[in-house]
Amino acid sequence: MIEHPDFPVEEWSVREVGLHLDTLAQTESIFALSNGHIGLRGNFDEGEPHGLPGTYLNSFYELRPLPYAEGGYAYPESGQTIINVTNGKLIRLLVDDEPFDVRYGKIQDHEQELDLRNGVLRRTVRWTSPAGRTVRVSSVRLVSFTQRAIVAISYEVEPLDAAVRVVVQSELVANEALPSQGNDPRVGAALESALESEEHLAGLLAQGSGGLLIHHTRVSGVRIGAAMDHQIEGPPGMLIDSESIPDIVRVTVTGRLKPGEKLRIVKFIAYGWSSVRSRPAIHDQVRAAISAARATGWEGLLAEQRGYLDDFWARANIELEGDPEIQQAVRFALFHVLQAGSRAEGRPIAAKGLTGPGYDGHAFWDTEIFVLPVLTLTMPNAAADALRWRHLILDKAKEQARQFGLRGAAFPWRTIRGAESSGYWPAGTAAFHINADIAHAVAYYLQATDDMEFEEEVGLELLVETARLWRSLGYLNAATDRFRIDGVTGPDEYSALADNNVYTNLMAQHNLRWAAEAAERHPDQARALGVTPDEIASWREAAEKMLIPYDERLGVTPQDETFTEHEVWDFAGTSPDQYPLFLHRTYFDLYRKQVIKQADLVLAMQLRGDAFPPELKARNFAYYEPLTVRDSSLSASTQAVLAAEVGQLDLAYDYLGEAALIDLHDLHHNVRDGLHMASLAGAWTALVAGFGGMRLQSGSLCFSPRLPGALGRLAFRVLFRGRRLRVEVTAAEATYRLLEGSPLVVRHHGEEIHLSGDKVVTRSIPPIQAGPRPTQPAGRAPLAREAQGRPARTQT
Ligand code: BGC
Repeated sequence: MIEHPDFPVEEWSVREVGLHLDTLAQTESIFALSNGHIGLRGNFDEGEPHGLPGTYLNSFYELRPLPYAEGGYAYPESGQTIINVTNGKLIRLLVDDEPFDVRYGKIQDHEQELDLRNGVLRRTVRWTSPAGRTVRVSSVRLVSFTQRAIVAISYEVEPLDAAVRVVVQSELVANEALPSQGNDPRVGAALESALESEEHLAGLLAQGSGGLLIHHTRVSGVRIGAAMDHQIEGPPGMLIDSESIPDIVRVTVTGRLKPGEKLRIVKFIAYGWSSVRSRPAIHDQVRAAISAARATGWEGLLAEQRGYLDDFWARANIELEGDPEIQQAVRFALFHVLQAGSRAEGRPIAAKGLTGPGYDGHAFWDTEIFVLPVLTLTMPNAAADALRWRHLILDKAKEQARQFGLRGAAFPWRTIRGAESSGYWPAGTAAFHINADIAHAVAYYLQATDDMEFEEEVGLELLVETARLWRSLGYLNAATDRFRIDGVTGPDEYSALADNNVYTNLMAQHNLRWAAEAAERHPDQARALGVTPDEIASWREAAEKMLIPYDERLGVTPQDETFTEHEVWDFAGTSPDQYPLFLHRTYFDLYRKQVIKQADLVLAMQLRGDAFPPELKARNFAYYEPLTVRDSSLSASTQAVLAAEVGQLDLAYDYLGEAALIDLHDLHHNVRDGLHMASLAGAWTALVAGFGGMRLQSGSLCFSPRLPGALGRLAFRVLFRGRRLRVEVTAAEATYRLLEGSPLVVRHHGEEIHLSGDKVVTRSIPPIQAGPRPTQPAGRAPLAREAQGRPARTQT
């Protein structure tokens, strides 16, 4: 959709010129604002029309029953689902007697802009009412990165042709009606009237122009408070009034405006929630947050927001020459990844962030494998916080393991606050790899930060409990002397309950080794967790003897023990409209054939590159490409990374385009339900790990950069062990510079490079011989990037 000329390519903004009601739900996701704590969809100030109204608080959920036709032992009976909470962004306007609604009267011009440097959503509209009065309405909205409970909106109305009477109603509304959802399993459940009122108040805040609502959820029993207050500037004689009922607080400002006069309202909204704090405590909490925001003021909040983002971009900016559209997309992607994680603080980063209700607001392995590597190298505190959340739900994971008759911890496949919310075992809880994924994210964070305190407090226990799981889930087969992990689902959800999925086994192998090493580094803490030398030895033995199957006949690594013996899916007999296959074909059929939903063995080659010699990587990549249909958004970035590594640079570039534009081009046709955080983070990975060739190997940063012909230059930054590093790549050479911090040794195509001070080190890029370009299933090749590229418009 954004390929339309009304969505120009710009370096630091995503802009929509004109009004496109047909893609409203999509742009609401794209223009969503969040700080990881609060999330607002980009709904119009006046509330209607909307695609999907949405205001979310991280971890604020309700329970819904998970009914089964035939139940079974340990099946989860209810699922946690994110709910649309009290809407504080509503500001309705009446011009003379006409409600400002873009569906009536005439829109003279309409523009929205997501500003990636200032962290605000701007909207300007020139509207002529059905009665013929023209006004300009402008709003600027922010969700504060620095005051995480706060949303602020600056709203202005000015008449352009004649004096008008204006009425502005600024509201807090709970239990908004939601459009009904379809049957797509990726869509979230919409719960009606989920909030029960506890308190409503109007007029009691500073200027008599505020109010608050307190509610709780009916079943999960979580309490939410939302408060608002306003600063109002306009010509003399404005009347201000406020009222409340259980689900609404309304502040009404009425007055006359002549051309040249303006009514400006700054609205501060605060949210607080808790499952333990009392009503008075929540009441005071949201009022206090409002007081702090008022004291900072609108300009102050804007300045704080800019400062926060300047700091982020100084650590994370990516520069790209040759493809302005990807330049824009990757900054958009990083901005949303930042929004999803920055202030989550001990709460999850969901697959959609806080941009929509898709997947019920659940967090999956997407966080640890796709999002956290990006945050670890750009915003390490946010990565540590996300892992602290895993630590907080460790008790539930241990309980889940006990239910399964296993030791250690079995983390839920999808959840908000720790309880398994997946009702489908084969493509849910059976994906035990999530435990090794968490361990991987812990080890990645530790290697990139040397944060020993984190290792002692959080990392060690996560590593130990997940290692215990593997030791008890797998078993040492006495006859073969191999450690097997049977009957699990790997990343490819079109192959379920398979024996010895290579991704799982390789990730578990590292998990077991890291647990052993961490326990030896912290013997006292390990002892306190009940770890004995025998247990450490048993982890090492399992890792040592881990079965990694190999298909001698084909000379490739099978995705699992028998995968390469299965019948190949009838791709020629599958028409393009039958994708994604899970909406058109039975799982029974998918499970027994060679057809891959998303990178699995190829992801193993990215994360455990050490386990595959280069020629095997190239053979494996060529084998799996024709079988991979990318019915998940978690695939293209991984395929980009491996394509780049084996020298398929143009193919890697096409995959980069898909990962980066997944939401801006609505490639999976479901951006209305929220953005795809893993794919957005994957855009960064496709550039940095793909064309930058960056890997973390045994604690060292290694680069093997190589660009596709279409890109003239790529520059990126990473934070590593307190150093800030900049890498710049052109067709012929790569330049490394330490921007900040003590000397560091990195590798360039295997060669050690010593970086210190302001020294700039340049090395040439060795050529690579690639085989023929692999093919994809009919109709599933990524779009050719070069044919797609759009020029940039100069930004003012
Ligand atoms: C993918 C999973 C992913 C989930 C949430 C599914 O389609 O197959 O791997 O975790 O989406 O993004």
